Formats: sequence, C-alpha cells, structure tokens
Amino acid sequence: QTEEADVMLLSVPSYACQRKTTLQNHNSVFTDALTLLAENAEMEDEDGRGVAFRRAAAVLKALPKAVTSMKQLNGLPCLGDHCQRVIRDILENGISSEAEATRQSERYNALKALTGIFGVGAKTADRWIRDGIRSVAMLRDSGHALNRAQLAGLQYYDDINQPVTRAEADAIGDIVERAVASVLPGAQISLTGGFRRGKLTGHDVDFLITHPEEGREEGLMPKVVSWLDSQGFLLYQKTMRNSYLESKDGPARPPSSMDRFERCFSIFKLTTEQKQEALTAEAPTESQHPESQMKCGELKETGHAGHKPWRAVRVDLVVSPISQFAFALLGWTGSKLFERELRRWAGYEKAMSLSSHALYDNVQKRYLRAASEQEIFAHLGLEYIPPAERNA
Ligand code: ATP
Ligand code: MN
Ligand code: MN
Repeated sequence: QTEEADVMLLSVPSYACQRKTTLQNHNSVFTDALTLLAENAEMEDEDGRGVAFRRAAAVLKALPKAVTSMKQLNGLPCLGDHCQRVIRDILENGISSEAEATRQSERYNALKALTGIFGVGAKTADRWIRDGIRSVAMLRDSGHALNRAQLAGLQYYDDINQPVTRAEADAIGDIVERAVASVLPGAQISLTGGFRRGKLTGHDVDFLITHPEEGREEGLMPKVVSWLDSQGFLLYQKTMRNSYLESKDGPARPPSSMDRFERCFSIFKLTTEQKQEALTAEAPTESQHPESQMKCGELKETGHAGHKPWRAVRVDLVVSPISQFAFALLGWTGSKLFERELRRWAGYEKAMSLSSHALYDNVQKRYLRAASEQEIFAHLGLEYIPPAERNA
C-alpha cells in the first residue's frame, strides 16, 4: 500500500457534525495530549485556544486508523501549526513535551484540583491560586467564604470525582422515574448526555423530562425535586425556572449554549442497595428483604467506619415542553464539541440559529419545527448522526 493511498484514506469533512465519531479512538495517544492542552486552555480562560485543540482532537478521533506519519495529515481540517507540532513531537519522541510540561506544572494541577470542585469555575480557581491556595486541602484550611454549591462540592469531593458507572446511572434513572411517575403520571424521562452516547462512565447523569401534552410539564421540576427531597435522595439541589418565554433575545441573535429550561443541578445520594436493586431488576425473583424496603434516609451513615453504604452522584435534570423536546434532546446529548459544531454549521453554512429550544431560519425569518432529531438534521441539510456517533 502506498503512502498516497494512506493520504487519501485519511480525509474527513471539516465540521464534527458531518462526521461519525464513535467511542473507538485509534489516535488516543494524540487526542489525550490535545485534550489536556484544551482543558488547560479552558481553565486559563482561553476559550478560543481550547476550541482549536478540541477540534483538532475530534478530527483525529474520527480517523479510521492510527496516524503514523505527518504526511497523512495533509488535507485534514482543523490542524493548525500548534497542533501539528504536538502531533510531530509524539510521532518522533513518543510524548508531547508541551503536554507533559503542562501535566507536571504546579499551576495546571492547582487549577485542575480546584475546578474539580463542583461550583468552582476557572475564574474562582484563579483567584484562590493568587491567594496561595493550590489544593483542596489548602482550601479547606483557608477559611475562605464558600457558596452553597461549593460547600457541597467540598463535602462530596471524593465521590463526585469518582466516575459514575452505567449501573449507577440506571439506578438513578429508576429513582427519577419513580419521582416523575408519582408527581405527573404520563410524563416521560430520557437519559441524555454521555450515557446516551454509549459511554460506560460519566462525570454525572443527565435526564430530560417531558409530557406528551403540551403545557402539562409546566412547574414539574419543583414537584419532582420536593418528592426526591422528601425521600432523602438529595444531598444538594439548585433549581432554575424556565426563562425562555421571558427572554429578550430575538431569534436572530446567535443563541448561546446555555438554554433556559426548567432545570435542576443536583447531587444525589445513591445507596449500595438501590444500585443492587437496579442491577437485579431484570431478574424475575423478587427480593423481599426488609432492608431492600428501606428508604435511604433511614440508613445509618455512621455505621460503616471508613466505608459508607452510599455515594454522592452529580445529576442534571431538565424539563422541556413536548414542542421543544427534539431540540432539547439533541442539545443535551452532546458531546459539547458536537453541539458547538452543530450551531456553527447552522449559523455559517445554513444561516440558521440552533438552540436547545428551536431552529430559526434567518433567511425565511421563521422557526422550523421538528418532532425528532432526524428532522432537525434534515432541516440542517446534514446526514443523521445517531447518538453513539456523536462522540466528537
Ligand atoms: P460526562 O459523561 O462527563 O457527563 P457529558 O457529555 O454528559 O459528559 P455534560 O457536561 O453532562 O457532559 O453535558 C451533557 C450535555 O448537556 C452537553 O451536550 C452540553 O452541551 C449540555 N449542557 C450542559 N450544561 C448545559 C447548560 N447549562 N445549558 C445547556 N446545555 C448544557
Ligand atoms: Mn453528563
Ligand atoms: Mn451534565
């Protein structure tokens, strides 16, 4: 096989939403380095550089095989000088000296540790670092004033930084299902985020809730949250009401990635038993131990020294009216880069504005309706990409 054939094989369209990107990545040695540099840029509040690294990593993720020579990069999109330097370094030396230097730098590690706290963003982390705080332990000892989210973030730091498994996501799903069924029968919940894309672990679990009758979903979130709270499932929650109708952004304004749905950022308390129940739910034999009937609030938290019988899990809940459901589902399935590329494609190539609420045609000056993700891709003139292939 000639190198020319290789070059021809490695060709991908330039927007991530035009490509199929599965979880099978033949170039992780390169994408790990580029992703670390992207993370670093984002934590330094340099979003432009962050996106450039993420786009380059996404191009390599979409390739059908491992890159073995710089020549193969000819004609590939989104690979600027800086990214090519990183790739060449890895091809020649096995590692990227820039990525390694970053990984070992005090500043990167401090930013990583502090932004790893739920409720702490890049700006807050930077301020604390300038105050001499470089670790979670130092923050704990500092006596700094923390908001409610940050306090919870500190309290459950270890749990939250441990990946959530699919089994845990399913157990949380069962609980959310019960909550929704008891406050609004007929309401439907969908797993979104990384788990919908087939990831085996995640940093949180994301759900989208709707009701087939438009309007019935209004005010649903506070009811779901108070049911969950009364059953002892919530360690933390912050609920935001729907602000879409009140928003003054005209449809022609480029929509931001933040949407305005009723939503809840929460931390769940998941007991080992609930996980067990979810794992054995398919088995026909019903377990009737008195323990399995216990509410998690009744469990002793101090009983197991050093090994508590529950863990904290980050959960995002979103409620959308059925008329916006397809947009919300598409917008909350990710990946983040895939979403960003969809909006960029819509704006630059189609003169349309896409958000998690709607699609607006800036030429026809009208909204384009859609009842499914397939219809949205069709409006955008894109081949349909299923969730498992949106792992850009
Ligand atoms: P992970 O497995 O690490 O959780 P993920 O892909 O599920 O990965 P999330 O951060 O949970 O990542 O985000 C899931 C989706 O929700 C993404 O597509 C993102 O664009 C969307 N999303 C997250 N936060 C918001 C927000 N505040 N407003 C609108 N969309 C959001
Ligand atoms: Mn997620
Ligand atoms: Mn999330």
